[in-house]
Amino acid sequence: MAATILDGNKIAGEIKAEVAADVKTMTAAGIRPGLAVVLVGNDPASEIYVRGKVKSCEDLGIYSEKITPPDTITTEALLKIVADLNSRDEIDGILVQLPLPAQVDSKRVLMAVDPRKDVDGFHPVNVGLLSTQRPGLVPCTPAGIIEILKRSNIPIAGQEAVVIGRSDIVGKPVAMLLINNNATVTVCHSKTRDLPSVCRRADILVAAIGKAGLVTRDFVKPGASVIDVGTNKVTDRAEFERLYSGHPKREESFRTKGSTLVGDVHPEVAEVAGALTPVPGGVGPLTIAMLMSNTTRAAKLRRGDRGAQRLSA
Ligand code: NAP
Repeated sequence: MAATILDGNKIAGEIKAEVAADVKTMTAAGIRPGLAVVLVGNDPASEIYVRGKVKSCEDLGIYSEKITPPDTITTEALLKIVADLNSRDEIDGILVQLPLPAQVDSKRVLMAVDPRKDVDGFHPVNVGLLSTQRPGLVPCTPAGIIEILKRSNIPIAGQEAVVIGRSDIVGKPVAMLLINNNATVTVCHSKTRDLPSVCRRADILVAAIGKAGLVTRDFVKPGASVIDVGTNKVTDRAEFERLYSGHPKREESFRTKGSTLVGDVHPEVAEVAGALTPVPGGVGPLTIAMLMSNTTRAAKLRRGDRGAQRLSA
């Protein structure tokens, strides 16, 4: 039987509607959540991502501010921008869009963001809060994956979960969230022996690798829920044929655009899995939705008592 396709756009839409309602209540109580996005230079991909984030803020009623220093900026000058944003009460979230130019010490800049405003959830303070199950800010893509599972009524507690990938951005935090939700978790990476057989244990399989269609049907236990985090641009015809031969819609878009966006999971997995997130339209839309959610959460956590008093008044 073909897998149920988990519609990330629909779930992201639900979350955004909830955030918009929250923002309305908070704003009426005098606390309008605010997000500052720092975009250094003119990287076209970064510009597209930032435009999407700012547009979502506008749609949901969140105050947003875009700061666009030139790509010649020094680490010290960028640290000053971050320090200024840290000190401003109306800014609840600070997002420094990566990658930063080579001359900038990215780690120093990210470490300088006030952990209470770290809506990406990358600061070691937030990593520690997540691993000790204390209230903090959780990285957006991993948080979105948990939302997909929960809102699709896929049980997590007691299930075998396998995560392929151990990055600080996706693999490790999603593994931690699955542990916190009582799954039994295995984390795999490039040195894992016999990856397919480890993956076949999974009731929930999360692929965060960055390799188009690496997860084939022999990785998947029949009926498993498969979450495909990968976003890979395929331009090679032979590679396209390996993945999408006989898919007329993909064929047409590949012919017109010369490329197609592919996940880490081979499309044939839809014939084995119980549920599967598509690419595009699966995990991707959740990342922005959770950024919006994190911004309101940061406002509530940081402006805490003041917010609670005004909200209950
Ligand atoms: P990353 O930092 O490059 O990490 C990739 C991980 O995959 C590493 O842990 C690596 O192992 C592992 N890996 C690579 N080749 C492997 C193989 N052949 N077998 C087993 N494991 C292998 O990537 P990332 O930042 O986590 O991102 C992963 C993917 O998710 C990318 O395609 C990225 O574009 C996508 N992504 C999507 C979103 C979204 O919103 N949809 C957000 C973030 C990322 P080692 O540690 O041993 O090197």
